[in-house]
Amino acid sequence: MREGTDVVILGAGIAGTVLAAVLARGGARVEVLDAGRHPRFAIGESTIPHTSTLFRLLAERYDVPEIKHLATFHGARAHVSANHGIKRGFNFHWHEPGARQDPELAHQLPIPSIMHTETHFLRADLDHWVMRVARKYGAVVREGVRVTGVGLGESGVTVTTDDGATVRARFIVDAGGFRSVLASQLDLRDEPCRFRHHSRSMFTHMEGVVPWERIAACNPGPVRGSQSTLHHVFDGGWIWVIPFGNHPRAGSDLVSVGMTVDPRKHPRRDVPAGQEFREFISAFRTSATSSRTPAPPATGSPPAASSTRRRARPATGGRSRCTPPGSSTRCSPAVCRSPWTGSTRSPGACWTHCGRTTSPSSGSLPSNG
Ligand SMILES: Cc1cc2nc3c(=O)[nH]c(=O)nc-3n(C[C@H](O)[C@H](O)[C@H](O)COP(=O)(O)OP(=O)(O)OC[C@H]3O[C@@H](n4cnc5c(N)ncnc54)[C@H](O)[C@@H]3O)c2cc1C
Repeated sequence: MREGTDVVILGAGIAGTVLAAVLARGGARVEVLDAGRHPRFAIGESTIPHTSTLFRLLAERYDVPEIKHLATFHGARAHVSANHGIKRGFNFHWHEPGARQDPELAHQLPIPSIMHTETHFLRADLDHWVMRVARKYGAVVREGVRVTGVGLGESGVTVTTDDGATVRARFIVDAGGFRSVLASQLDLRDEPCRFRHHSRSMFTHMEGVVPWERIAACNPGPVRGSQSTLHHVFDGGWIWVIPFGNHPRAGSDLVSVGMTVDPRKHPRRDVPAGQEFREFISAFRTSATSSRTPAPPATGSPPAASSTRRRARPATGGRSRCTPPGSSTRCSPAVCRSPWTGSTRSPGACWTHCGRTTSPSSGSLPSNG
């Protein structure tokens, strides 16, 4: 049994590693345990100004200057990795299957240049880098170790792992994402869920995706489509396109492509996720993602599929434990509160519609992917 840890953090994703860096910088003895190994595939790649503001606040409040690099695209590209993409806006395009996209049915929310530019984070690089920052400040990060149980006592916690070790600590933070051990063990999730919604997602990374401005008849605003987070909306679902290689000094041609559909309109079929994914993409190929077939997925192959539904529970903290929202809730990307930033993604108040400024047209457009 290992003693002497103040905080044990379950999960070395972006939430766990940023917290580990902050706590270790402040002098706490921190141990992070993760079942996987960096670098590894993850989604959740597109930031909004609120995300970046929180990174800046964390950096200043807890004196971890490295976190500030994550607050702008230029900082992330210079200090973290050239594989991140630039994000200057949000695009929304309505599609009919097989038809050319009607530019009248498009919106763009540019990010005001007076603020800064947002980022399309290649999470494999981002999470790996933040883990190294946490280590630099003294956090112990153990990869390839699965937490199998947590004992909560009066004076602290006992964590058991699949390699037979036991870690004792004063506090535990479960940043294990939707596989949260504590949420399952303490029954922190509503079953059945009070806020059930209908969505399922498929996602992967692709190469050879043609930039949107080479396909679209008209760009709805001042920002090039390929430098936006693109949302291609259709009846019963939407496809997100998040390019990483969209700037002159890009280190990668990868594009994150995924979709969320309503199973009532698009029921799950008994075919592999990769096949279903390609069928959706080809229904909108002339207009949505690419004018030619994308190269095979570069990572995350075959496309991962998941059902998402909102799980909510008011109490996520206790005497010696904390489960951030990512662990106690699981939700559709269109409506979720991002667990690593706490931000609710919303489309904003003002849109340019092919050059004209309009109000958000209806509740039917999803928010950021
Ligand atoms: C379809 C979709 C699209 C999204 N798009 C966006 C977006 O555009 N922008 C945005 O800000 N957010 C987005 N999100 C949300 C984003 O993905 C999450 O907020 C983010 O990945 C959560 O990071 P995390 O560190 O909390 O968890 P994760 O990245 O999931 O990390 C959890 C870690 O815990 C480890 N772990 C789990 N169980 C155990 C165990 N028992 N023992 C040891 N280790 C364990 C895992 O190996 C993993 O490394 C999206 C989410 C979805 C589902």
